[in-house]
Amino acid sequence: MSAPPNTHANENDPSFRHILSLSGGKDSTALALYLRDRIPNLEYVFCDTQKELQETYDYLNKIEVHLGKPIIRIVPKIGFDDLLRNRGNFLPSPQVRWCTENLKIKPFEEYIKNDQVIMYIGIRADEPNRKGYISTKPNIYAKFPFVENGIGLDGVMRILEDSNLGLPAYYSWRSRSGCFFCFYQQRREWVGLLEKHPGLFKEAMDYEREDALTGEKYTWVQGESLSELSQPKRMEKIKEDYTKRKLAETPNFKNASLLSTFERQFSDENNGCIICHL
Ligand code: SF4
Repeated sequence: MSAPPNTHANENDPSFRHILSLSGGKDSTALALYLRDRIPNLEYVFCDTQKELQETYDYLNKIEVHLGKPIIRIVPKIGFDDLLRNRGNFLPSPQVRWCTENLKIKPFEEYIKNDQVIMYIGIRADEPNRKGYISTKPNIYAKFPFVENGIGLDGVMRILEDSNLGLPAYYSWRSRSGCFFCFYQQRREWVGLLEKHPGLFKEAMDYEREDALTGEKYTWVQGESLSELSQPKRMEKIKEDYTKRKLAETPNFKNASLLSTFERQFSDENNGCIICHL
């Protein structure tokens, strides 16, 4: 998985399958719209961890209408809860990211089997250093149409606006697609999850454990349990710190457009998995 993806393939070779894996995020969605009339036999897929936000499922339904084609939902054979149990309740983390491997990559590779595939990836021209965690099977060839055609964030937003599809609803409080408990969330986003989806926040909290013998904590956020994070005073502090930090970085942050805040909002974080978050 660590080798770079293949990038040389003859896209006119009729033996190739053409596949775009949607994450429910803005970039892969814009790429789907961009390619809709350029690659007629494109297969749209979504690797469904079954732990996604309802906003993501709603957005995918809207995308299907715009594409005029179904998005194939790929579901893992073994779901998150069973995987977690098999791993002694050891939660995934940026360092030990077993969830992406098992819930996204493997199911995708099983779906394509050994077919020759050109996979279209929505990394933009203005993020040349973005690295992703994508399959490097030798039968998968990666193509980056936005990079090849100089399409950056403005171009992506234009594609979404021109199509009237817009952005997924979760962008009002969270910057990424993916599982509701994704460990790439910032604390401010966990607060957003609690405010928008208290039931899901509680579910995420129930996954956390403390080893009775060693006292070691298995938490989504390093060094802080969700129970601690959800205390009213703590939440106020997280919101305050977030606003202060953003105002310091961007003096007109309060009046900034959603578009202009996107790239700053979580730019100091690891980019995560492109199959989950693009
Ligand atoms: S969205 Fe986050 S938690 Fe879900 S599979 Fe991807 S990295 Fe793991």
